[in-house]
Amino acid sequence: MATALYYFAAWTDSHCLLGCLHQHETIISAVACCTTVAGSYVVAVESGQLRELDEGEEAEFQYAMYGWDTRRGRYLPAVTAVLAFVWRFAGYRS
Ligand SMILES: [Zn+2]
Repeated sequence: MATALYYFAAWTDSHCLLGCLHQHETIISAVACCTTVAGSYVVAVESGQLRELDEGEEAEFQYAMYGWDTRRGRYLPAVTAVLAFVWRFAGYRS
């Protein structure tokens, strides 16, 4: 049975968008995949649909990634670009 909600790390490398394609159960474990690549993001997949992190998840991501809590400085334009690309690139559905 597919996981209803999971997260994965996404990043860019030489203008290519890549993702770890794990099914992380928590944001913090997805962030662990981010730490080797600068400019990484965490993308949520809920019921097979890619989506950006919601406000609470974003705060958790900021805390896990940078060690401080913020509700500002969201990466909406970049995340939107990642979502548009990864949706085609990944080509999988749960
Ligand atoms: Zn991963």
